[in-house]
Amino acid sequence: MRNFSYLRATSTEAARRAAALPGAMLLAGGTTLIDLAKCGVAEPDTLVDISHLKGLDRIEIDEHGATIGALARMSHVADNAEIKSRFPAISEALWQAASAQLRNMATIGGNLMQRTRCPYFRDPSNFSACNKRQPDSGCAAIGGVTRGHAVLGTSEACIAMYPGDLATALVAFDATVHLDERQMPVDAFFLLPGTTPQREHPLEPGEMITAISLPASAAARRSTYLKVRDRQSYEFAAASAAVGLELEADGRTIRDLRVALGGVATKPWRARAVEDALKGKVLEEETVRQASRLAVEGAVDHGANHYKIELAPRVVARAILKMGEAA
Ligand SMILES: Cc1cc2nc3c(=O)[nH]c(=O)nc-3n(C[C@H](O)[C@H](O)[C@H](O)COP(=O)(O)OP(=O)(O)OC[C@H]3O[C@@H](n4cnc5c(N)ncnc54)[C@H](O)[C@@H]3O)c2cc1C
Ligand code: SF4
Repeated sequence: MRNFSYLRATSTEAARRAAALPGAMLLAGGTTLIDLAKCGVAEPDTLVDISHLKGLDRIEIDEHGATIGALARMSHVADNAEIKSRFPAISEALWQAASAQLRNMATIGGNLMQRTRCPYFRDPSNFSACNKRQPDSGCAAIGGVTRGHAVLGTSEACIAMYPGDLATALVAFDATVHLDERQMPVDAFFLLPGTTPQREHPLEPGEMITAISLPASAAARRSTYLKVRDRQSYEFAAASAAVGLELEADGRTIRDLRVALGGVATKPWRARAVEDALKGKVLEEETVRQASRLAVEGAVDHGANHYKIELAPRVVARAILKMGEAA
């Protein structure tokens, strides 16, 4: 690991100024950044510690929705009683992420900014070809071991999967990411790889996430996060689905449906085709299973990750049917 300077920011403004300097990076819980520095992917000259900044760890909830500060810890948000009752999918996504120790350290802002787990990306000493790490160097994953790679949103330059759970749930419920002086829908905060996989977010140098906000809705209140993975805990998703459901007064017809996929795409993936196909329909198992296949429209596999194209629609259907039973 390369030597770096450590700077403890005394205010948000000071953090922004310091983080805008070349070679500077923000440090929140450190659970991703220190790993990346150790394996030589991140080579900061200066770490700007924001973990203790006051006011950025608040969780505020009223009838309009929730605002979660960027420095709120994953475990605090997951365990918040109002988040659990009004946004169960958010709480469940966080509970199923990482481990208890990591959730106690890691922040919401850092969670959104986590990098891919592509093994070629994380091993620069053995694999020099990685367009995300080094633009125009190639992609060692294409033609390599691809079991964990994306099938949606890929490009010829990069097929790395976005691994976060929380962002999948945030995309389903139209969350907004608040930066210092602007805000944007969470969907726009994650960029597709295209020809520039090294650029993952539209952040300017020194720009910081300050909060996430979520509008209240009936679909968010009746929601779940279903994560399928190789082992029961402490594992990233093979495929996951955040689903929210609102039924008409007859208790059978779908008024509103939210569906987003995790573990299968290069960014948190809203499955609007599934939503559109089912809104206004009677919730029946066969109808749900058929519509859920639309979740992987346009998917492209690279051999070993083909199973995700089969798995993701099943995960979506299971989550929708589970919410139907809960109705
Ligand atoms: C073994 C392991 C297993 C894991 N499993 C899962 C899992 O199953 N699901 C899952 O979702 N996640 C998982 N994670 C990822 C974990 O959730 C993240 O490491 C964590 O959320 C990062 O938060 P942090 O505060 O520690 O970020 P840091 O490590 O401090 O920062 C991460 C990145 O975000 C930037 N950053 C931090 N805060 C801000 C901000 N406010 N504005 C702008 N940039 C910022 C930093 O500069 C850095 O680039 C796992 C991690 C590990 C190590
Ligand atoms: S898939 Fe993306 S992150 Fe992985 S080696 Fe290829 S370019 Fe790098």
